[in-house]
Amino acid sequence: MTTGLVWDERFLDHRAPPGHPEHAGRAQAIWQRLESEGLTARCRRVPAREAADEELERVHTARHVRAIDETARSAALQLDPDTYTSPGSALAARLAAGGLVNLAREVAEGRLDNGFALLRPPGHHAEAERAMGFCLFNNVAVAARAAQAAGLAQRVLIVDWDLHHGNGTQHSFREDPTVLYFSTHQFPFYPGTGAIEEIGGGDGRGTTVNVPFPGGMGDAEYVAAFERVLLPIAAEFDPELVLVSAGFDAADGDPLGAMRVSPAGYAALTRRVLGLARGRVVLALEGGYNLDAIARSSAECVRTLLGDREPEPGFGEPDRRARAVLDAVKAVQEEHWAGL
Ligand SMILES: [Zn+2]
Repeated sequence: MTTGLVWDERFLDHRAPPGHPEHAGRAQAIWQRLESEGLTARCRRVPAREAADEELERVHTARHVRAIDETARSAALQLDPDTYTSPGSALAARLAAGGLVNLAREVAEGRLDNGFALLRPPGHHAEAERAMGFCLFNNVAVAARAAQAAGLAQRVLIVDWDLHHGNGTQHSFREDPTVLYFSTHQFPFYPGTGAIEEIGGGDGRGTTVNVPFPGGMGDAEYVAAFERVLLPIAAEFDPELVLVSAGFDAADGDPLGAMRVSPAGYAALTRRVLGLARGRVVLALEGGYNLDAIARSSAECVRTLLGDREPEPGFGEPDRRARAVLDAVKAVQEEHWAGL
């Protein structure tokens, strides 16, 4: 398999105050792990580049794009209770979004089989007109729109396995039947959105699928969410490209979350999505704050993208509370998806 890899040292120039969980050491830990396991050498590097105004403004308002650009003039700014910028943040954010656009394009065109984007800052909380939850531009949403605008994919599936609900991504495609947004997340939790009943609006009813789990869920429950809800819906939706908001804050040991997904669990989720869209799958880093867990989990995902196959461990039966959530999601979604 030819797996593309986006990484740029300028992602490290986005800095938050000391003690902030979303710091440059996260990306460095992942990069070092990929290097030490020989995985970077097996991937093809795809250069980051600055996203153009036109690309960003398919998702964000021009006013928001200008506001982020303006932050480069200030030593440090706080944009919301959790979101900070440094002089290097605006460039890092443009490079992250543009790098993911390029990677998704190469995969959609078939020049790469799949890809992994080791990005900072993350994106899925960023809304049309506001930075939020450590996110400045919504990288995945921008890449989905770019692939569509280039005529490379009509239907795009966004799978968001970050601990948190991707309010920005959901909002971007709320009424759009051509982008299916599927999210597993801890609930109730930050940012507060992502209830089962949030299924999209207008022509987009049914193309937002939320699986809000209580804390404590792990591999068995996440695999069950994919097998019982995501895969049947995705088979019917028939995406031409899959973008994954691959946060690793649902990992066992994460300081912000209460989930227990293991590196083998993330590999299992990656394997499930690789069965969609002829394997045209791109993972983009979102959150994840336990450095050892995010490094090991990223390495397992990249290994899976490269085609390495280990025998999958048995994950067991999902927790009763998770089964109840999945049943409730199916009950709400079944009028939109015959295969459920
Ligand atoms: Zn998160």
